[in-house]
Amino acid sequence: MTQQKKTALVTGVSTGIGRAIAQSLIDAGWRVFGSVRKEEDGAAAREAMGENFAPLIFDVTDEAAIRRGAEIVRAALDGRTLNGLVNNAGIAMAGPLRYLPLDELKRQLDVNLYGALRVTQAFLPMLGADKSYAGAPGCIVNMSSVAGKVAAPFMAPYAISKHALEAMSESLRRELIMHGIDVVIVGPGAVKTPIWEKADDINAEQYRNTEYYDLLVGMRENMQEYGADGLPPEDVGALVVNILTGKTKKTRHAILRNKVAMWTLPRLLPKRLVDKLVAKRFGFPQAKK
Ligand code: NAD
Repeated sequence: MTQQKKTALVTGVSTGIGRAIAQSLIDAGWRVFGSVRKEEDGAAAREAMGENFAPLIFDVTDEAAIRRGAEIVRAALDGRTLNGLVNNAGIAMAGPLRYLPLDELKRQLDVNLYGALRVTQAFLPMLGADKSYAGAPGCIVNMSSVAGKVAAPFMAPYAISKHALEAMSESLRRELIMHGIDVVIVGPGAVKTPIWEKADDINAEQYRNTEYYDLLVGMRENMQEYGADGLPPEDVGALVVNILTGKTKKTRHAILRNKVAMWTLPRLLPKRLVDKLVAKRFGFPQAKK
């Protein structure tokens, strides 16, 4: 790896959006550290992306492993700032709040929210919060979702984690103004990645004897189709390159197909009307008042 290249860390590059972001940055001339959880995924990513990619092995719930990864990046930076951190690693959990085991919500937050904060805390010195690093301060990109602003039924664990990630991002951006480190939110709609296939992992059986079971199973099937119609992850990769190279200065980017129906209207229309439209779409019976 040459010294002059801009450098970024992207979490969760084994598949999907993270992989596309890493590849887009490399194509744009960056060197990229990418986190994976398994050695073999790291080797495969290196094989696919070449010498400007280096894997770091850590789970975002494992603070000690993140710190070890940070040491590797610190040594490679050789006193220069890290230009970009993309908190992308994430999982999507679902279930009706009435019965949701709290441990599932904790797990969701541990990965999507605390995970992003753990990584951010470990890498902030290199991003320019420590003034002994030479070069311009870096930029943090937090991967949220439409679910960071709009909460669908059954998607509460995921939507809670992404709403909280957005709140964290805003506070952080304002706290980091003094260091010149920017924080930008990317909120995609459906993107065609393996995350949708993992919808099968949703444990609907634990809700079998509840009023929500059939609806939940129906939603799980819908999710697969919805994901298959999603944007290519490369579109998100191109957007993140534009953010990290300063081509756009927006603090939040919504990137999705059917933007008016899936993003603009749900936030503009009266909430009670949206409640009814969502109930109709998901086939929820509506009690007479
Ligand atoms: P994906 O399942 O293909 O990729 C998720 C990545 O995160 C994988 O590399 C996985 O190994 C990693 N990861 C999961 N748990 C981890 C943990 N505990 N520690 C470290 N790494 C972990 O899914 P994706 O669609 O590419 O999702 C990437 C991000 O984009 C997520 O934050 C997701 O919420 C967000 N997102 C996805 C979509 C979509 O439609 N695919 C839409 C909006 C937002």
